[in-house]
Amino acid sequence: MADACHHRTGSVLIKLEADLPELPNQPPALTAQHALFLDFDGTLVALADHPDRIIVPALLRQTLAVLEQRLNGALAIVTGRSLESLDHFLAPLKMRAAGIHGAELRHDPLQPPADVATLGDLAARLQARFAGDAQVWIEDKRAAVAVHYRQAPERQDELFAMVNEVVNAGDQSLEIISGKCVFEARHHGVGKDAAVRALMSSPPFRGRIPVFVGDDRTDEDGIREVQAQGGFGIKVGTGASQAQWRLATPVSVLVWLRGQLIVSGLIA
Ligand SMILES: [Mg+2]
Repeated sequence: MADACHHRTGSVLIKLEADLPELPNQPPALTAQHALFLDFDGTLVALADHPDRIIVPALLRQTLAVLEQRLNGALAIVTGRSLESLDHFLAPLKMRAAGIHGAELRHDPLQPPADVATLGDLAARLQARFAGDAQVWIEDKRAAVAVHYRQAPERQDELFAMVNEVVNAGDQSLEIISGKCVFEARHHGVGKDAAVRALMSSPPFRGRIPVFVGDDRTDEDGIREVQAQGGFGIKVGTGASQAQWRLATPVSVLVWLRGQLIVSGLIA
């Protein structure tokens, strides 16, 4: 499990070659009938040591803006980040989006997202529990609390037990989700599957064929959902997935997205 944290390093390229043959890596072309749901970190941008240190290529912003137009708005970012953080990194773009794995939803980029259910003092209790631990970093996302441990992937089991103890000492309606060197506590029933369902229930998504692209465990919910709705999923990077297709890295995703503007049914 620990190697999942090393997604961003050069050495993973060697591993990718061994892993890639499980899934075909030439996803079908998008058409004007598709709706596109894209994870952000690890899918559109490479992971960094700290979530604030990611680099967003200008070409990515431009590509998302044009794709959104060609799909008549049926493009949403479905991320574990808060919408505030997503907007910061995509500025001046403001996309349709689900933040914090769907706890925040924005159907209309011109409207503020609906208010989210917060987790009370959980962030403060986790801060207190890990005070002085330089390898652990607590992120309060309001509707979720993330415990990051990218400096110490080998401590996964120990840290999970500690997080679990703090979370379960409080609200029983919370669950803990494991990602790449991160644990996240959030309310039950929140997930990328529910986010896709909510977005697909109204225009401009309704009636389209959904496509989900993601790299992490929480994306599997979104991938399962779009496949249940007759669409297809694309897994980014190594590891098992329910997706029918795979792309190696965020750069491969950008190349594939650019390709859709040139050779697919989305041509203007
Ligand atoms: Mg991701």
